[in-house]
Amino acid sequence: MKIFKAILFQIIILFMYICYSYSFDENYFTSCQKINVLINDEQFKNTINVYKTSNNVEYFLIKDIAAIYNANIIFNNFNNESIIDFDNKKIYLNKNSNEIIFDKESKKIFNETIYIKDDIYISSEIFSFYEFTKITNTYVKWDNLSLTLNVLYITDLPFIKYFEQDNIFRIIIQLDEKNKYIVSENDSEIIIKIFNNKLKNGFINIDNCIIKTIQSYCYSDFSIIKINIEKINKFFKTYEIYDPYRIIIDIANENKKIKSDLLLNNSDENNKYDKTNYLKKNKKIIVLDAGHGGKDSGAVGIHGTKEKDINLDIVHILKSIFDKDKNYVVFLTREDDRFVELYERPNIANRHNADLFISVHCNGFYNAKNGFEIYHMDYVASDSSAAMLAKFENSVVELEEKTNYGNILLRNMLLSITDTENINESSKLCGFISYEVSNRVKIENKGIRQANFAVLRLTKMPAILVETAYIDNYIEEQMLLTKEFRLAMATSIYEGVVKYYASKQHDNEKH
Ligand SMILES: [Zn+2]
Repeated sequence: MKIFKAILFQIIILFMYICYSYSFDENYFTSCQKINVLINDEQFKNTINVYKTSNNVEYFLIKDIAAIYNANIIFNNFNNESIIDFDNKKIYLNKNSNEIIFDKESKKIFNETIYIKDDIYISSEIFSFYEFTKITNTYVKWDNLSLTLNVLYITDLPFIKYFEQDNIFRIIIQLDEKNKYIVSENDSEIIIKIFNNKLKNGFINIDNCIIKTIQSYCYSDFSIIKINIEKINKFFKTYEIYDPYRIIIDIANENKKIKSDLLLNNSDENNKYDKTNYLKKNKKIIVLDAGHGGKDSGAVGIHGTKEKDINLDIVHILKSIFDKDKNYVVFLTREDDRFVELYERPNIANRHNADLFISVHCNGFYNAKNGFEIYHMDYVASDSSAAMLAKFENSVVELEEKTNYGNILLRNMLLSITDTENINESSKLCGFISYEVSNRVKIENKGIRQANFAVLRLTKMPAILVETAYIDNYIEEQMLLTKEFRLAMATSIYEGVVKYYASKQHDNEKH
C-alpha cells in the first residue's frame, strides 16, 4: 500500500509538472501572426510568423531568420547553445539568456532568448544591432504596424558618393559617359531615371535628418536611383558636371538656414566650398586635432598620464606657433578636455575647407615599445601592427552613441574613395615632418607608415596622424611630461608643414 501511495504521489507530481510545462509553453506567447517578408523588395516565399508575449514583446523563430539568409542552425544539446551559422560568421544564442554573441562580440538584449520544445525564439531587438547588420550584410526594418519585415542587402555602389555639409546633402552619381536622365519627385522620394542599364542593384542606408536611403535598380534599358527622403520641406536641384561625367543632386531642408551659397553657385564642383575664399587667398587653413578627450582618455601611461591631456597640450603649443605665422589660419577640433565624436573630427576639417588635417596622439598600444611614428591614411596598412593601431585609435567609436554607430560602417564604405592625390600629398607631408623630428627631437624615429584611420579616411584634404611617443613606455612617458619635448615636437610639425608648402611652391614654379 505504501509503495502504491508513493507511486501515485509521483504520478501526480509528474502530471502536475506536465500540466505546468504545457501551459507555460502555450501561454508564453499570446498571439502568433503571419508576416510579410520582403528581401530587396521581393516577396519571400516562406511563411514567417511573429509571436507576441503578454507584454507585447515580439519574437521570431530563429529557424525563420536563418531561412531568410539561407543560414544553418547548429544546436549544442550539451550546453543549450544554438548557433546561426552564416557561412563564415556566426551568431551564438543561449537558453533563457540575455546575451547574444555576434561572432566574437557579446551584446546584451532586453528580452531573453526563449526555448520552447525544439523551437528557439529571439526578440525583434536582434535586428537593431549594428553587429547583425555587419554579419548579415543587410539592413533589416521591422514594421510592426504593417507586419512587414524589410530585408535589404547592403551593396557597395561605387558609382554613388555622398556627403553632407551645412544641412545640404549632396549625392554624386558618377557615370562613364553622358547619359540622358529624367528627375521626378513625390513627398518622400526623388526618382532619377537614367538611360543606362549598366548600373548595379543595391541599397545604401543613410538615415540622417535629410535622407533615409538611396536605392539603385537596374532594368533592361534604364536604371532607377530612388532617394528616400525624410518628411521635410525639401529643396533640391540636379545638375551635371563633366570630365568625368557626373549627375549631382543637392538636397536641403528648407526649414534650416543654409550657411553657404552651395545651392546657388555650383556650376563647378571645385568651387563648392569657397565660402572661406577670402581667408584662403593668402592663407593655408590647418585643422589640428588633439586625439581623444572627455570620457575617452586614449592610452594611459604607467604613472597615469592620460594621452588626451598630452595631445591637447601639444596642439595648443602648435597652434600658438602657427598663430605667429601670417600664412596660416588654425582651427582646433577641441580646445579643452571634451569628447568629440571620432567622425565629427574630419567633418570639422571639411567644414572649414581646410588645407591640412593633423591629428596628434601618443602611442600606447604595445607594452615596452618606443619611438615616434607618423601615419597617413591608406587602405592597406603598412603591417599588422599599424593595422592594430588603427583599430585601437578607431575603437573610440564604441564610446559614441549607438544611434550613429550603425551608419558609420556604411558611410565608410562609400566615402572610402578618397583621392589618391590626398594620399600622395599626405605621404609627402609625413616625410617633411619626420625629417624635422629626426633633427630636433631625441627619440627613435620609426618613420612613415600607413593605416586605415577613421579620422583620416573621411577628410577631403591631405591628413596625417602623429604618434609622438609611447606613453606606456616608462622613459617616453617621462619625456612626454616635459615642456621641452612637447615644444620640440610642435616645432617639428610646424617646420614640416612650412617646408612641405615651400616644396610645393618650388614644384609649381618648375612647371
Ligand atoms: Zn590615440
